[in-house]
Amino acid sequence: MTDAETETVRCRSLIVGAGAAGARAAIAMSRSGLEPLVVSKRDHGDAHTTWARGGINAALGNVDGDDSCEVHAADTLDEGHFVNDPEAVEVVTSEAPDRIRELDDWGMDFSRTKDGEINQRYFGAQAYPRTCFAGDHTGESMLDALVGKAQEIGIPYRDNVMITRLLSDGGKVYGAVGYDMEDGGFVRFLAGAVVLAAGGATAVYSRHSSREEENNGDGAALAYEAGAELMDMEFVQFHPTGMVGERYGEDWDGRLVTEAVRGDGGVLRNSEGERFMFEYSEMDRPELDARDVVARGIANEIDEGRGTENGGVYLDISDEDRDYIRERLPRMYERFESLGVDIAEEPMEVAPTAHYAMGGVDFDPRTGETGVESLYVVGETTAGVHGANRLGGNSLAETVTVGKLVGEYVASQEPIAPDEEPDLKHGSEEEFERLRTKLNGDGSVRVDGVVEELGELMEDHAGIRRDSDGLREGLERLDGIRKKTDSLGIDGGITSVEFEFAVDLEFMVTVAEGILRGALERTESRGAHYRDDHTERSRDWRKNILYRETDDGMSLRTSEPGEPNEGVKRALDEEHELEYHHLE
Ligand SMILES: Cc1cc2nc3c(=O)[nH]c(=O)nc-3n(C[C@H](O)[C@H](O)[C@H](O)COP(=O)(O)OP(=O)(O)OC[C@H]3O[C@@H](n4cnc5c(N)ncnc54)[C@H](O)[C@@H]3O)c2cc1C
Repeated sequence: MTDAETETVRCRSLIVGAGAAGARAAIAMSRSGLEPLVVSKRDHGDAHTTWARGGINAALGNVDGDDSCEVHAADTLDEGHFVNDPEAVEVVTSEAPDRIRELDDWGMDFSRTKDGEINQRYFGAQAYPRTCFAGDHTGESMLDALVGKAQEIGIPYRDNVMITRLLSDGGKVYGAVGYDMEDGGFVRFLAGAVVLAAGGATAVYSRHSSREEENNGDGAALAYEAGAELMDMEFVQFHPTGMVGERYGEDWDGRLVTEAVRGDGGVLRNSEGERFMFEYSEMDRPELDARDVVARGIANEIDEGRGTENGGVYLDISDEDRDYIRERLPRMYERFESLGVDIAEEPMEVAPTAHYAMGGVDFDPRTGETGVESLYVVGETTAGVHGANRLGGNSLAETVTVGKLVGEYVASQEPIAPDEEPDLKHGSEEEFERLRTKLNGDGSVRVDGVVEELGELMEDHAGIRRDSDGLREGLERLDGIRKKTDSLGIDGGITSVEFEFAVDLEFMVTVAEGILRGALERTESRGAHYRDDHTERSRDWRKNILYRETDDGMSLRTSEPGEPNEGVKRALDEEHELEYHHLE
């Protein structure tokens, strides 16, 4: 490759990521008098947020007036198995109603009750119907409203820029570097503040529910390399029912079959025709138990040889009437019909799929601070709100509640763009050289092969069921993968997907190491983390695991989460009954 052009951009505040979290932080900043520059590796209306369909939680009490922010917080802590950051939970639950009303004012297309109020429904593990929704396109409608607002107030976006490293001396961040994915030029951003809103990390698993080429852990890995601590990486939520690629084609592998199929009468059967969830749950309709319970049940059936020949189990709603299925589940009906499957006549094949990373960057939920000066985080890149398991509908709530606070706080700090880049151990010139070397790589190892190998490793060793031997073996295999990243052969140019993945692969390896190490360290089962060799939840492990980069590699320590406030404690003492019967 010939030397790419190098561009320097100065800005007071750089937001990396243009999903709901980045957009909401940008709006808050701009309204507080600080104009940010928002960069993202896709077009700005095109972030993963658009794939969230089900809903967003806020205790509006429109459908049941007994709901309150405190009960919402109690449900969140309960589902998070009490290792959530109670302050983060309080921020999200107390701010959510105002953020929802604001989105409504900004044109989000909320579904309504017959009285014209924003409608709310149950998601799993909620005491009251509190999930607001825009039909089955909640995330898309939400991002449209946010992007519309951002455009109205003139926030500048720069699309298709891949950030590959932050400019950091370990204690302070001065900007970020990357390349333009359209013209291939290198870009150095000198910024007074950097806000990472770069999404999640579940694509380190080969079966995941994310969009292709997204959720590779960029945010967590960038912050970690810049000196921030990660937290609770071992907690990965697996959705019980992802489509099975062997049956429906690789493009569909891991894509969600909505929980509404089970909510509307679908039952799970193994290859012997047994409704096996009765073995794992005491509920009358065991398919409607918590996500981790159902996912473990399915995984167990498959592991013990009672799965289908394609590696799944059957999800069957064919006892229901065709018209009912069409009316209640139109998207599912059409999707399977387009694949030549009539779900009114035959079962679907499903298996668990990695869906949400509860872990991420440790941060202050009121400010976004990370412990590294001038570096802030927001959205799915963070850790703390969801604890050991996420309540469905809470992640969209997190993006806008915390996003607003972080944007306002960063503006209050009045950041100033550095005049020039300080002398750093890993400065921009070194990073550009690293990218050039990677681009010119003529090794024999193909990027997509290594990504696949990593995904399989994570499935094999850090999936739904884990144990000490498997996790240790996973770490050994990961060392082999890390070595391969030095011998990649890249055929495409700097603007190719292949090169993007070569960069992402390093982020993915960091995240994978965090998950494996944390899962090995946590010698108990809690929420989404299940150890075959430590099957019980342990009081001693009501702790968070924190990860920091040191000269000797990844170093782990633990800390204890704080206590919830009195109102939330009261709500917990009231032991509201959780409703699992209307899953979405
Ligand atoms: C299938 C599915 C359904 C879901 N449904 C729901 C739901 O119903 N309710 C709910 O609450 N949650 C749901 N979630 C979770 C929710 O969608 C996400 O947690 C949320 O949208 C994350 O928003 P975000 O702004 O943090 O990140 P994203 O929307 O992922 O945005 C990340 C941004 O960062 C950019 N970026 C990433 N890396 C880089 C880089 N290196 N350089 C530059 N830019 C970068 C991306 O281009 C993008 O703009 C669902 C998730 C999935 C997978």
